[in-house]
Amino acid sequence: MKLPENGTPWPQLKAEMSERGAGDAKWRDGKTAVYVFNAGPEVEQVQKEAFTAFMSENGLGPLAFPSLAQMEKDVISMALDILHGPEGATGAMTSGGTDSITMALKTARDHARSKGQSGQANIVLPQSAHLAFDKAAHLMDIEVRRVPLKTDGSFEADPDAMAGRLDSNTVMMVGSAPNFPHGIIDPIAALSDVALEKGVWLHVDACVGGFLAPFARMNGVPVPAFDFELPGVQSMSADLHKYGYAAKGASTVLFRSDDLYRHMPFEFAGWSGAPMKTPTLAGTRPGGAISAAWAVMNHLGIEGYRRLQGKVCAAREEVEAGLRARGFEILGQPLLGLIAFRHPELHSFAVYGELYKRGWFTSVTKEPRSLHLMLSPKHAEMIDAYLRDLDAACEAVRASAGEAKESVQPRYN
Ligand SMILES: *Cc1c(COP(=O)(O)O)cnc(C)c1O
Repeated sequence: MKLPENGTPWPQLKAEMSERGAGDAKWRDGKTAVYVFNAGPEVEQVQKEAFTAFMSENGLGPLAFPSLAQMEKDVISMALDILHGPEGATGAMTSGGTDSITMALKTARDHARSKGQSGQANIVLPQSAHLAFDKAAHLMDIEVRRVPLKTDGSFEADPDAMAGRLDSNTVMMVGSAPNFPHGIIDPIAALSDVALEKGVWLHVDACVGGFLAPFARMNGVPVPAFDFELPGVQSMSADLHKYGYAAKGASTVLFRSDDLYRHMPFEFAGWSGAPMKTPTLAGTRPGGAISAAWAVMNHLGIEGYRRLQGKVCAAREEVEAGLRARGFEILGQPLLGLIAFRHPELHSFAVYGELYKRGWFTSVTKEPRSLHLMLSPKHAEMIDAYLRDLDAACEAVRASAGEAKESVQPRYN
């Protein structure tokens, strides 16, 4: 497409865009269990209106837009409150989990340097940790040491094996709460002990669990301690645009103290322009992402989050029961909204492909090969329909002798 010579009136473009969207995943119907967190039309309306209210404002300018600066402070303070941030804990909003992880790693690296670390820096993480760590490490020329998970079928990080890979150039070790591929919360308490004993920075990646696990716990789910409650945890990432139900472009990166946080902002005066200090990677920061997060958090409150997260956990329990009844094995013991599962006789990717044909946008895990669901509150009403289509998908795979074709090899994008 070339930039058109003349403009087109908005009503015409609006119609065209709606037509273009017609082929996209119909996530509002509840048949998408990846990419979108569907808390229903009421939350969507709050997101939309709150986003557009500050869409043109710029979080880069706290003096021009004290409203946004205060909303960001409020969001960080609410996040620290539910994640047991101690007195003096602090943080910032970023554009997403990858951004939060990148900034946490940069901060940990600069903190280590300030203590004299000077060789080739490395990070130690479980095999199930998100690839955002590899991306960030790639940007900063940091060596990544991925460590195999425990072999007891728990799909948890192995703290002893991780301890064995730490050295004086390790700037960060990582635990997930939960990891994305299996939905399992790593043994953060044991990782915290290792971190304290060895004097290594522990980051808890709660991108997908940070705004779910605390409320599941309040609802009586036996979620183990995973946040700043554990003294070895120095930083956390928790995404608002996942189970925080905020508009996309919103995450938090949190630090135990200002003494750690102070290694994050970038301040510079050596150019022609005015001196500038930015807390995160972004220069211009979308006001809408901040205002939408602030509004959704205040709209839901603890009561609203508990209600929604109760639905997510109930949906997972119901789907688990249905899967077990059909001979599927659940990987580990998921407690939150992510679940991975496989059938002893059926090729998971082939079943995935058959579900896709029936309108389900879900995902897969590679190690071990399994099907994957990321459940939203909306899915509480979709379990029967999903299991019916799963039966049909399994039947189709059995009938076709089950080998995954190249065309159904799933990828995220
Ligand atoms: C989603 C996710 C990330 C990355 O977040 P983005 O917002 O997609 O950049 C990191 N870690 C975990 C565990 C995640 O689920």
